[in-house]
Amino acid sequence: MTGEFTGDLAQAVVDLDAVAYNVAVIRAATAAEVMAVVKADAFGHGMVPVARAALGAGATWLGVTSAAEALHLRAEGITAPILSWLHGPGTDFDRLIAADVDISVPAVAYLDAVSQAARRAGRARVHLKIDTGLARNGAAPSGWPALVARAAAAEREGLLEVRAVWSHLAEAGSQVAPFRAALAVAQAAGLRPRLRHLANSAVALSDPDTHFDMVRAGLGIYGVEPVGGRRYGLRAAMTVRTSVVLVKRVPAGTGVSYHHTHTTSRSTTLALIPMGYADGIPRTVDGRAQVLLHGRRCPIVGRVSMDQCVVDAGDLPVRLGDPVVVLGSGDGGEPTAAEWARWAGTNPHEILTGIGARVPRRHLSLVTEAVR
Ligand SMILES: *Cc1c(COP(=O)(O)O)cnc(C)c1O
Repeated sequence: MTGEFTGDLAQAVVDLDAVAYNVAVIRAATAAEVMAVVKADAFGHGMVPVARAALGAGATWLGVTSAAEALHLRAEGITAPILSWLHGPGTDFDRLIAADVDISVPAVAYLDAVSQAARRAGRARVHLKIDTGLARNGAAPSGWPALVARAAAAEREGLLEVRAVWSHLAEAGSQVAPFRAALAVAQAAGLRPRLRHLANSAVALSDPDTHFDMVRAGLGIYGVEPVGGRRYGLRAAMTVRTSVVLVKRVPAGTGVSYHHTHTTSRSTTLALIPMGYADGIPRTVDGRAQVLLHGRRCPIVGRVSMDQCVVDAGDLPVRLGDPVVVLGSGDGGEPTAAEWARWAGTNPHEILTGIGARVPRRHLSLVTEAVR
C-alpha cells in the first residue's frame, strides 16, 4: 500500500507556493491593488492558509461573501483589510464593524442597517455596490442616486466612511462606461471613495481599462487560466489524489455500476476508487471522465455513485493501493479542473468548490513554513 496517505481515502494537496506565484503573476499584470477572493473556503482550497499565502505574495485585500467567512479570518488573527459582500437582513453588522471588516452595501435598506449598527459599534467602512449589467447584486442604476445621497449624508454624520464604489462584470467586455457613470454620480453626491474596483481574474490579466484601483482575483490565484484560449502561465494549486481500493478482472459483457449504463467490450481490469459525487466527482460526467493511473489516462466507467466510482484500467498491472491522480495541473498527464468542467458541463469554479468536505486538504509550501 502506498505510504503517501495517512489512511485517508482521498486528499486534496494544495500548493501554497503556486497560490503565491499566481498572485505575483496577477500583480505583474496590473498597477492596481490585488484583492485575493477567498470565498467558499478559497474555492475549496482552504481559506486561512490560502489567505496567508496570498497576503504574503503581495495581495493587500481579502474578499469573502459572508460575514461568517470574514469573522473566521479575523478569529484566525488575519489583520489585512477584508471586504464581505453578501448579507441578509439578519446579518449582525455590529460584529462586522467591531471586527474591522469592510461591508458591501447594495441597497438603501442595507445602508440604513449598517448606519444603525454604526451608532452602536462605531464608524463603519462601506463599499457601495452598483449593478452595471449583471442584474444580480448591487443597486440598479435607477436606485443609485438615492443610495449615494443617503451614504453621503451618513458619512457627513460620521457614521460611516464610503471607502469604495464597486461593481462586478457579467462577462469580459465592457461595463466600464456604466461604472464610470456611476462613479460620476457618487462624486456629484460629494463622495470621494479611495477605491474603485470592478475587475475579476480574467480582466485583471487581459484588460487594464477595467483595473481602476483594485482587482479582485479568484480563479486565477488558484491557477486556472481564466481567459479562454489564452495562457498566462498560472500554476494549478490543487491536486486531488486517491488510490485504488479494489481490483478485479472481469470478462467482456460485464455491466458496470448502477443500471449497467456501461458494459465492458473485452476482458479488462476494473479498479475501484473511493471518491464519488459526495467528494466532487460530478455524476454528470457519465462516460467522459478520466483519471491518471500508472501514468495513463483511464476512463471512469458506469455511473458515478455517492462514494465511489469504477475505473477501467484495461490490461495495466494495477494493484491494491496504487495511486490515482484525479485532478491537478496536467503536468503529469492528469486531468485539469478545466477538463473536468468540460466533461461535467460546468465551469472550473464549480469543480474546485465541489471537492467534498470529507476530502482533507493538505497544505504544502516549500518557500515558507510560516504560512502553514
Ligand atoms: C467570485 C468573485 C470574484 C472572483 O472572480 P474570478 O472570476 O474567480 O476571479 C470577484 N468578484 C466578485 C464579486 C465575486 O463574487
